[in-house]
Amino acid sequence: SKKVTKLPPKISPKHKRINVLEEYKKRNDNKVALNLVVVGHVDAGKSTLMGHLLYLLGEVNEKTMKKYERDSSKIGKSSFAYAWILDETGEERARGITMDIAITKFETEHRRFTLLDAPGHRDFIPNMISGAAQADVAILVIDSTTGEFEAGFEANGQTKEHALLVRSLGVQQLVVAINKLDVVGWSQDRFNEIITKLSPFLNQAGFKKDKVIYIPCSGLTGENLLKRSQNILEWYSGPTLFQQIDKFEPPIRLLDKPFRLSVSDFFKGGISGMGGITVAGKIEAGTIQIGDDVLVIPGGEYGVIKGLEANDESSKWAAAGDSILMTLSGLDILQLKVGSILCSVSHPVPVTSYILAQIVVFDIKVPITKGFPVILHRQSLNEPAIITKLVTILDKSTGEIVKKNPRCLPKASSATVEIKLTNRPVPFETYKENKELGRIMLRKGGETIAAGIIINVSNIIIY
Ligand code: GDP
Repeated sequence: SKKVTKLPPKISPKHKRINVLEEYKKRNDNKVALNLVVVGHVDAGKSTLMGHLLYLLGEVNEKTMKKYERDSSKIGKSSFAYAWILDETGEERARGITMDIAITKFETEHRRFTLLDAPGHRDFIPNMISGAAQADVAILVIDSTTGEFEAGFEANGQTKEHALLVRSLGVQQLVVAINKLDVVGWSQDRFNEIITKLSPFLNQAGFKKDKVIYIPCSGLTGENLLKRSQNILEWYSGPTLFQQIDKFEPPIRLLDKPFRLSVSDFFKGGISGMGGITVAGKIEAGTIQIGDDVLVIPGGEYGVIKGLEANDESSKWAAAGDSILMTLSGLDILQLKVGSILCSVSHPVPVTSYILAQIVVFDIKVPITKGFPVILHRQSLNEPAIITKLVTILDKSTGEIVKKNPRCLPKASSATVEIKLTNRPVPFETYKENKELGRIMLRKGGETIAAGIIINVSNIIIY
């Protein structure tokens, strides 16, 4: 008689597990993916510079470019044509229409960049923080025009604040585009003068000397973006902007840690027309794939991943460092908030209202005292909080305790403080557990007053 062998149940291809680490390795062997943010004082030329670079790279089709040229000369501002490349996509992105527009991505020989938008206006700094929190590397654009660099570098200029913010958010590598050099006759003296003024500040802000590279350029004429400018041949033999950003080092990703994503945006409806809720953000740690359950913290509700887009491309998986869109089913949209953490079900992130942090105080006018109200920023999260206790002042270079229970924290000091969230408990992890989630920034009255790391969380709420 014939033996009947029972076949194993058919696994639906939908639920076939992917070895994400293997896929990740394959993808990175091809080209390292990096999230890039462009910062600098308003009108420094950020949009023009990036728009022109994207145009030179062939990311903008001729027809669109011609349209921008026509429209901008019609209003007597032909110099705006390049800036519009970015503004247009920014606007469309804000309306959530063209999330997958090609222009937010571009490639160099060895790197694949996702361009994060960061409006330069002061009012938008909280937005900028949430954008820059996703960044691995940054371009700081400086207007070299006489008087303009100085204005941007003064106390209420944005050059310093943006540099401090991106560093506090974990960016270690910076390309400084000394822009608009066409206006100052491609002066080597001006180029050097700006470096002399800027570099001590950037070092003090925590950028290592060899991680900051200065590039002379003009976003408007396009010189030294892709091709070397004829006007600087006599005194400059370094790389072009394009060559330099190709040299950004690959960041270290927390692939082996439990999955964490800080929600930067969410909306009803799924990607590519499917139902559900879509969440946007950057994966801070771990990996995920379609079919995985994720937990929303605070709240403790589950959702199932139905669709994914990683770095603007449809994907079955995503990993730490990826900017993603994730469509979830089985979740009530009311459970989501900007700043919530999506995490792995087996390793939920702790929730608390109390943290102990080690901070560096910025250039503030009024010293920090006990009871100081602040806004605490951590990735896309911003929450009201109070500095409830000044624990110690630390020596900036050795980290040793200089003073216990100080009465106040002067500018440029380093200290340990207790912070209480006043609105609601939120997910926190120590810097030791997760160096992405363990980093915070404190702002008050529209200014950044301190940045630091979480060294302890207490009174944890378990869901
Ligand atoms: P953003 O606010 O930093 O994005 O600055 P924009 O890109 O909008 O530029 C502000 C103004 O500076 C616009 O009028 C630009 O045409 C002009 N601009 C930008 N880059 C350059 C440059 O390299 N040279 C000159 N001459 N003008 C520039």
